[in-house]
Amino acid sequence: MTKIVLFWHRRDLRQHDNAGLTAALQSGLPVVPLFIYDREILDLLPSRRDARVTFIYDEVERLARQTEQAGGTFLAEYGRPLAVFEALLGRYEVAAVYTNEDYEPYAAVRDAAVAELLARHGAGLHSFKDQVIFAKNELLGKSGKPAKVFGAYSKAWLAAVQDEHLAPYPSQELYREANLVRLPEAAPRPTLEQMNFVRHEQQVPAAELPDEELVRNYHNTRDKPGLINSSTRRSVHLRFGTLSVRELMRQARALNPKLLNELIWRDYFMMLLWHYPFTATESYDPRLRNVPYRNNEAEFQAWCEGRTGYPLVDAGMRELNQTGYMPNRARIAAAGFLVKHLLIDWRWGDRYFADKLLDYDMAQNVGNWQWMAGTGVVAAPWFRVYSPQSQQEQYDPSFAYVWQWIPEFGTCEYPKPIVDHKFARERAIATFRAAYQARE
Ligand SMILES: Cc1cc2nc3c(=O)[nH]c(=O)nc-3n(C[C@H](O)[C@H](O)[C@H](O)COP(=O)(O)OP(=O)(O)OC[C@H]3O[C@@H](n4cnc5c(N)ncnc54)[C@H](O)[C@@H]3O)c2cc1C
Repeated sequence: MTKIVLFWHRRDLRQHDNAGLTAALQSGLPVVPLFIYDREILDLLPSRRDARVTFIYDEVERLARQTEQAGGTFLAEYGRPLAVFEALLGRYEVAAVYTNEDYEPYAAVRDAAVAELLARHGAGLHSFKDQVIFAKNELLGKSGKPAKVFGAYSKAWLAAVQDEHLAPYPSQELYREANLVRLPEAAPRPTLEQMNFVRHEQQVPAAELPDEELVRNYHNTRDKPGLINSSTRRSVHLRFGTLSVRELMRQARALNPKLLNELIWRDYFMMLLWHYPFTATESYDPRLRNVPYRNNEAEFQAWCEGRTGYPLVDAGMRELNQTGYMPNRARIAAAGFLVKHLLIDWRWGDRYFADKLLDYDMAQNVGNWQWMAGTGVVAAPWFRVYSPQSQQEQYDPSFAYVWQWIPEFGTCEYPKPIVDHKFARERAIATFRAAYQARE
């Protein structure tokens, strides 16, 4: 039996500029790329019509076709990772598994278990940093812990970054017959139907760098959700690795520091989740772990469906429900409104976004939700309650965004505000203050 190396794709569905794939292709052994449709994740999805699963499926099939054209075999397996690896170790002589690091709490546990299993079979798990520029402990503050102020982190990031951090890896050039292997006995790849999913496509931009003009103008347009191209819309590609973050960072570094700054936020939140995995489900600030949220089910439903009577919030939620995307400004308005105006636990909103967002990423979602709720490692002050009306006037003054998503806006069919802003603001501040002071 030929000794092989497996390259395990996870959040990096691309052949070009891929750190772990490059290392695998340089290992001297033939490489078999692998994707696992992980039942630990898929079985928990609330719908079998999930656009993210369709997206992943199409990308995996694309990678598989490209691998076959290059003279190799691409394995796609449906199951639980440990069981899949047990089976593969029985079928092939696996010398090692290469992969890229994944910083989510579930991934850390899964990878440790896989590493242990492989070690028992005399094979190693080799992980590489790929989806961020600085990871884990690379950019800690003076205290030896992550900086708790984004400004300090971004300053350190900008001081540390060198051209080589953003340089592309030559995985595409190495992806050729000599470094791959054809496995004639490989099992057929599962179809969406065999995994019990129904095809559900959503429109996403091509996995290419955004237009240069858009990037040059980004700081002027990013907060105008009514514009067609207000931001890059590349979050889904960064989430699934169909675009390399290094490519986008290089473009941002050359053309627009504001865009680079947003991408540094992404690195920052990934580092924070790795250091504080409990924040996935718990407020970081212990003083705000027992806020007596109202958690009114009917009001939550109105928020989910975009029926709060606050048009920027409602337009955002309706866009999310219909397309799986929401511009950052609308996410801010919707999140702030849920937590402060309706006094609903940020975790309810975090879960709803997790089910709906095409670009859902635990680190970014939890980091931003906790920021908005005032409970996070980095957080807006707990007493900040944005006025939905001022946000509307500032970011969508002509209601261009609102008209796109709320056709009945301005008619008597559009609901009246679910709560008065002044009343809700005072109630939120009093509630948060009481929770805060009780734990001081
Ligand atoms: C409550 C809330 C929840 C969010 N949940 C997610 C999520 O699950 N997944 C996700 O990718 N982003 C999330 N964001 C961040 C941000 O809204 C999206 O990344 C952005 O809207 C995606 O659109 P874009 O690609 O056009 O972004 P652009 O404005 O073009 O920015 C380029 C890239 O920078 C990164 N970025 C931009 N803003 C942020 C930010 N505030 N925090 C971290 N990274 C950022 C993203 O990777 C984004 O694709 C959330 C924001 C809020 C307020």
